[in-house]
Amino acid sequence: MDPRLPEMSREKLEAWLRYFEDLQLGDFYADRKAVLKQTAGPSAVHLEPVAPPPLRTQPPIPPAKLGPILPLVQAPSLFDAADRVEGDTLERIREFLGECTRCRLHKQRTNIVFGVGNPRAELVFVGEGPGHDEDVQGLPFVGRAGKLLTQMIEAMGLTREDVYICNVVKCRPPENRTPEKDEMATCSPFLLRQLEVIAPKAIVCLGNVAAQTLLKTNESMSRLRGNWFDFRNSKLLATYHPAYLLRNPNAKGEVWKDLQKVMAFLGLKGKLPRV
Ligand code: SF4
Repeated sequence: MDPRLPEMSREKLEAWLRYFEDLQLGDFYADRKAVLKQTAGPSAVHLEPVAPPPLRTQPPIPPAKLGPILPLVQAPSLFDAADRVEGDTLERIREFLGECTRCRLHKQRTNIVFGVGNPRAELVFVGEGPGHDEDVQGLPFVGRAGKLLTQMIEAMGLTREDVYICNVVKCRPPENRTPEKDEMATCSPFLLRQLEVIAPKAIVCLGNVAAQTLLKTNESMSRLRGNWFDFRNSKLLATYHPAYLLRNPNAKGEVWKDLQKVMAFLGLKGKLPRV
């Protein structure tokens, strides 16, 4: 605990930490230099679907209110306190991650899959976690689902180098299972720091794990998909994961509709869809 914190702030912070430990939300970083700008209050995420956002002239998005549509956990946000680090960069985050053993997923991984792409991207894709090919190569979305994602990106008129691609967890879950809640709680602060540093205009969540993690909801993909949400100073849209599309090719049309919303927001003309 930083002894320079005023007495009241220290007490509040200690109460928070005890609260999070009770919820088994995982360890906190020992060397974090985050400035805890706000230690109470609602989440920074507005969960009510919002109208398609206007283009670049939009003023800064005010702190979001809890929306009435989706059931939310009425708890202080771990993300707000834990993921803002002064002077942060992607390199610092990667360095701080190190050869991470903070959760059990480290045991069977080959490589940490941190993320790849343009550090100033206007568009970030967030998936669930690495699969076999990603684990071997240390790069996100390089297997069959990754090739489909590449096609989707190119259909939007972009390349993989134009965007940033990452996941909620950075180590491959055994047998490609869904990451456990405690694993996501431990790893997602790194994702949130990445998003804070990149500050994209739009975030596309690929699959319900990414969408539910960032929006902090248990709502189904069918309810979340295709809608815009406020996520801090970005707009967030959820769509199906490319791996789902490999199993359900009929859903590609729905995904293309979602991506066209993103293209309209970013002013992209795109190419003929090849997904
Ligand atoms: S998944 Fe994340 S928190 Fe868990 S070991 Fe890997 S990098 Fe660390």
